[in-house]
Amino acid sequence: MAENNEYIVPNLAERLQYLRKCPAADITELSSAIPGFAAQLPQDYLMELKSAERIICLRAAIVCRSVTQGIQVPRKMQLQAILAAQLGHDSLVSAGTGSGKTLPIAVNILMDDPADKKITITVSPLKRLQATQQADFNERYGIRTFVINEDTPRDEGWWMSNIYSSTKTIKNPAQHLIVTVEQLFKTAEGHFSRIADLVRTPAFQGLISRINIDEAHSFYTSGLSLYNCPAFRPAWGKLSDLKRILRQTTPWHLFSATFPPHILAAVKEKLMRPTFDYIHQTSNRPNIIYATHEIDKLENLQNYSCFVTSPYNSVAQPHILIFVDDRNLTAKIADHLDSCLPPELQGKGVIKNYHSSMSQLYLDRTHSDFVSPTGTCKILVTTSGQSVGVDFPNVKIVCTVGLPASIVDALQRGGRAIRIGDEDALFVVFHEPWAREITEDEFEEGMDPDRPRADLGANARRQERAPLSAIRLVQCRTCVRQYYAGYLNDQTESATLYTGPFCCDRHDDGFDLQDFLPGSLYQKDLAVAKTSAVVSRAIIRLKSERVELEKLLIKWLNAKVAAEEYSRPSYEILSADKMRDLLRIPSKDAVSPSAIATSLGENQEWQDAYAGELFHLIFEFDMEIKTVKAAKELSKRGRPARAGQPQASVTGDGFINQTSESYGNIESSGTNNKRRRVSEYK
Ligand SMILES: [Zn+2]
Repeated sequence: MAENNEYIVPNLAERLQYLRKCPAADITELSSAIPGFAAQLPQDYLMELKSAERIICLRAAIVCRSVTQGIQVPRKMQLQAILAAQLGHDSLVSAGTGSGKTLPIAVNILMDDPADKKITITVSPLKRLQATQQADFNERYGIRTFVINEDTPRDEGWWMSNIYSSTKTIKNPAQHLIVTVEQLFKTAEGHFSRIADLVRTPAFQGLISRINIDEAHSFYTSGLSLYNCPAFRPAWGKLSDLKRILRQTTPWHLFSATFPPHILAAVKEKLMRPTFDYIHQTSNRPNIIYATHEIDKLENLQNYSCFVTSPYNSVAQPHILIFVDDRNLTAKIADHLDSCLPPELQGKGVIKNYHSSMSQLYLDRTHSDFVSPTGTCKILVTTSGQSVGVDFPNVKIVCTVGLPASIVDALQRGGRAIRIGDEDALFVVFHEPWAREITEDEFEEGMDPDRPRADLGANARRQERAPLSAIRLVQCRTCVRQYYAGYLNDQTESATLYTGPFCCDRHDDGFDLQDFLPGSLYQKDLAVAKTSAVVSRAIIRLKSERVELEKLLIKWLNAKVAAEEYSRPSYEILSADKMRDLLRIPSKDAVSPSAIATSLGENQEWQDAYAGELFHLIFEFDMEIKTVKAAKELSKRGRPARAGQPQASVTGDGFINQTSESYGNIESSGTNNKRRRVSEYK
């Protein structure tokens, strides 16, 4: 314990005690007497407050400044979080990763009078993060912090001399416990850990000054059984039980960068008292450039070669984090990237593979090597569990392979990207072609935008796992940053700010993904693969197309009714149901008048009377769409679009000459696979 005492030298302890207790007038006087202090504080915010609240904030700010030797002064969000706690309110802090939630947690602990022997409990999502957090609290703020997880000693002596004893006085008791959530509940074997016992002991409950929950969205994403799939970490979901057990006056403070409305509603209901303070700061990371990129197949390893400089250059090679959901694929991608290196560097740890079944030691070593400026590892291929919440300050590119399981997940992954200054970074989602074809009406109605297309059984295919939010992301034609802000219901002014050379890949402003990659994008045969993916799956016409086509069909139908000699009702020509069916037939299936009649279950008479006209109407409509698409594709690749391309005609028998395959060839012929070097990587 001696090492901890070094940080609380008597004069600081005395000074802190004075700051905690001194009258308001002293605080006001002090804050104007410290040179430059007033300018460091968010004065606009302070002026909005009642004077008693302002004093609380100033007191906290001076405490913070004293403990950190003048280095740290709380920002607005931090003062709001401190104030909520000091007033005994519950609070929910929605703020981006790196926004500094350690400071309010620390300052609140420092504001507790040591004589009261209060304890703060912080629930932390990842065992691996706890040690770093502990060091931060101990060293920077001089707060006696202990980590409680499955490795913590269980013997009574240790607990009684460090954490809590009902019988003897502990000289320097713990002020702060960083606890993994599982420790707070009964284990699978039916045992309570020591901390689980303690939080159920009334005397100890009386000492708990507050509960902080880090990454609190996990209550919903990890703690609840969703989409017919059991909870990943049920203990998260049991936090609501803990809330009931503890004193109702014990404030809870929830922190997360991702509280979309459906998760906010869940944590509000289960973890907050009816009135609580909602503190919101944008989670937007202005330095991140967002993109989505279609690849033929996730298993085609060629698609990942673009992450390695070619020829390999260890100085130019940026740090890249690749998230993969499938552990086997994680290993395959890592092996492939390793094979892209010069023979003498292969197997030397430049590319590493990282997932939860690996030893703690390996994970720690790999992480420190990867984040070190002199480390060997440049590309880390990882599953989500071990990396979310872990800091990777030097990562230039984050790629998520396949649709993320939710936008919360995507943003948590993307949030790993660079944290140094305002240097820009890229977050790209690689997805397969079918993600463009799924339509919203293939999803059940619901509140949760991350709901998958089908329930998640053990053998669910990727297409079934696809969450609506990720489908929307891929199909979104407008700003991706705006889309993320909308998902989070982030209405702050800074929600869509960006500081990089581009915002995202949706602005038609010259963004080219290739410019941000160290190696060449793999594009060969992509168009062909795209076509076959479409053919292999029964799809319906895109919703956006259906809306437009419906207008044309209604117009046609009205004209038809008006023109009929012995006024046939419209439903006999094309009933509402048949209209809906017709709209859903994908263009690849609407290849002839008879195909249309057959699809609708109509007879020969109907076919002779109407199918020809309908076929031509739909054909013209589809050609228009293809022409616009092709022109866009070609102009994107820097070639002028020729009018009327792709060429197509209707033959005498009503079949289309332009097949989907030849259309695919036109697309692939424009492929520009040239590599452009990026100066900033050199
Ligand atoms: Zn944008």
